[in-house]
Amino acid sequence: MKTIDDANRLRNRVLAALEQADLETDAAEQSRLLSFVVAGGGFAGTELIAELFDLVHGVLHHYPRLHDAETRFVLVHSGDRLLPELPADLGDYALRTLRGRGIEFRLGTRVVAAGPGSVRFSDGAQIEARTFAWTAGTRPNPLVERIGPVGDSGPLRVDECLRMTGVDGVWAIGDCARIPDPAQPGTYYPPTAQHAIREGKAVADNVAAVVRGRAPTPFRFGGLGILVSLGHRRAAGQVFGHRVSGLTGWVLWRAVYLGKLPGAEKRLRVAVDWLLDLGFSRDIALTSNEIISTTAPDRNRHA
Ligand SMILES: Cc1cc2nc3c(=O)[nH]c(=O)nc-3n(C[C@H](O)[C@H](O)[C@H](O)COP(=O)(O)OP(=O)(O)OC[C@H]3O[C@@H](n4cnc5c(N)ncnc54)[C@H](O)[C@@H]3O)c2cc1C
Repeated sequence: MKTIDDANRLRNRVLAALEQADLETDAAEQSRLLSFVVAGGGFAGTELIAELFDLVHGVLHHYPRLHDAETRFVLVHSGDRLLPELPADLGDYALRTLRGRGIEFRLGTRVVAAGPGSVRFSDGAQIEARTFAWTAGTRPNPLVERIGPVGDSGPLRVDECLRMTGVDGVWAIGDCARIPDPAQPGTYYPPTAQHAIREGKAVADNVAAVVRGRAPTPFRFGGLGILVSLGHRRAAGQVFGHRVSGLTGWVLWRAVYLGKLPGAEKRLRVAVDWLLDLGFSRDIALTSNEIISTTAPDRNRHA
């Protein structure tokens, strides 16, 4: 789960799974189609499982044979705490809130294999599901691997002025770079958009400074805060050092994203769309021809 295309594909897949489940006569296959597994208990995975739950439960009434059918949502996370980026009490709040809705959490567990109809875990358990989403880490662009030192496939190491170490004339920012955070020596700035945007401006200033024969300026940014949406109009997080949760957190979360959109026209369009969401049910139109193979799960294809 990395791009808007991934999000669109997943939405189409979920709606296609519901359509197929509605016609399915085999109970085991119907259950597979109605089971959704997400790997990764960071921000992306937590928001994703909450949103999947809301999407499915928001549209289930459109599928006559599924009204009483059981759905299953499972989040698998290798750490022992959900949302390790947040203070423990907020992570616990998120876990309690989502568990209260019926979402299952397998903490301290890794996904070891995934096939067309099942996902296998490090504790030996297996869940039969036709939809599996991965949010437990992405790799940088292959170009970055080619520029970086041999054997180091991670983001490029840069100094605090955003210059790549060991290679003259290469600068790196955003998800492609490991930028030292002087506030916590030995650690790096997190790969978030709020950092990347500021790093973009900083690197432009630094390149211009070096071209003009001046010294570049070290990059410094303390972060504004973090918010995670928990669906059902709830969110949790920390903004400017203050903890927020529940409906207030959600309103703030939406306000932040609205504020980040470029231009008044786009902001107005999205605000109107969100207002309409409050009064109308979700759109279930498929925007691509997603067909989910329902052949028997092939265990030999586990990677
Ligand atoms: C699911 C998810 C949710 C997230 N939520 C948040 C959030 O709520 N808040 C937050 O602050 N951060 C969030 N992040 C992190 C944030 O999206 C990234 O840290 C940020 O986008 C990094 O910016 P970037 O410019 O380094 O990379 P990107 O935004 O990935 O931009 C890289 C660009 O380079 C282009 N590109 C790739 N290859 C080439 C090439 N060969 N030539 C030319 N162009 C190329 C790509 O098309 C892309 O447009 C989230 C990330 C994910 C995956």
